[in-house]
Amino acid sequence: MSAILTLNAGSSSIKYSVYLTGEGEPREIAVGQIDGIGPEAVLILRHDGKRTVTPLGEADHRAGLRAVLGALKPVLGDRKVAGVGHRVVHGGTQYAAPILLDDGILRNLEKLSPLAPLHQPHNIAAIRAAMEAFPLAIQVGCFDTGFHRGHPFVHDTYGLPREYYLQGVRRYGFHGLSYDYVSGHVEQAFPDLKGARLVIAHLGNGASMCAVRGRQSIACTLGFSAVDGLPMGTRCGQLDPGVVLYLMEQGLSRQEISDMLFRKSGLLGMSGISNDMRTLLETDAAQTAEAAEAVEYFIARVKAEIGSLAVANGGIDALVFTGGIGENAWQIRRQVCRDMGFLGISIDEDANRSNAEIIGTGPVQVLVVRTDEERVIARAVASLLGA
Ligand code: ADP
Repeated sequence: MSAILTLNAGSSSIKYSVYLTGEGEPREIAVGQIDGIGPEAVLILRHDGKRTVTPLGEADHRAGLRAVLGALKPVLGDRKVAGVGHRVVHGGTQYAAPILLDDGILRNLEKLSPLAPLHQPHNIAAIRAAMEAFPLAIQVGCFDTGFHRGHPFVHDTYGLPREYYLQGVRRYGFHGLSYDYVSGHVEQAFPDLKGARLVIAHLGNGASMCAVRGRQSIACTLGFSAVDGLPMGTRCGQLDPGVVLYLMEQGLSRQEISDMLFRKSGLLGMSGISNDMRTLLETDAAQTAEAAEAVEYFIARVKAEIGSLAVANGGIDALVFTGGIGENAWQIRRQVCRDMGFLGISIDEDANRSNAEIIGTGPVQVLVVRTDEERVIARAVASLLGA
């Protein structure tokens, strides 16, 4: 049996998983992450029912990845890593399906960095480091935009002059690996919902929602960059572009505006306390009017997008919550589903509180599904290894 490694490199973290591959579904044997890349990185590894945390001190992405490889040696034993799967945030208009990476493709992916400056350069750095560390393994890119590439034109475009669409100013959509996993799980676990009209709410630190039908993405709240749609931990979500023009006229630089929209807005900017939903919901210190309003705004935007995405999908058969907030924050789910009976959405209080998988009581099924982006990547690697 050989092993598959999956890597998901963000600006300050690298998440990784190890799977064994042979017949059938890849089997996860270890999972972990490097957190705090920079001055105080730590390596977390879960394997064999044990969790170990190792402080690394100062470490960049390369050093972090080297530490991961060191920690995985005893996990892997004499098993060879046959394939490494990478989460790549942006595949542009060119790449949708998982692909075998080589230098030429990496150069094309580098050209997309201006479209996802917070993620793409880190994804590419991790790929280069993995190519060096595992020269004999296949390297596979799995794109967060890929699942959305079949959007109908009306959900793929903005109302700008046509030349910009042709240049690539499009609604790419993100969190595609999560939507792929969740919609696949729903169809498998709930045969009644095969081909059904789903609205999936991926509510995490990054948050978006997607209308899916028959495993096809129809529309997504994230568009050209990862800042549209819902407010997120530090990103503002939907914004009138007139506000950006106003900020420019106020003399803010491009960098200052970008920092504000991507790093200082959303739950953090509105609450003035934290980007973390749990903190805003649970800490006494967070019970300020500003914290409550930030949470209310988040909920109002999720509700509005349910309506919008249900319309894009020609109706709604199931609403699915996923992501750190969607899976755990019962208070948020309760508020989102409140007064939604007119759409056929209602939930059972006890099931909701206990984070049960099925919480709906109305004609629209309401589900809570744990997302597993790593599994989507591992399956893609296993399939290309098989091929
Ligand atoms: P990322 O986009 O970084 O993958 P996650 O999907 O891990 O983010 O989601 C992180 C968010 O989930 C944070 O806002 C965190 O507070 C929230 N969260 C996690 N557990 C809970 C919980 N029990 N209650 C409320 N919020 C939670």
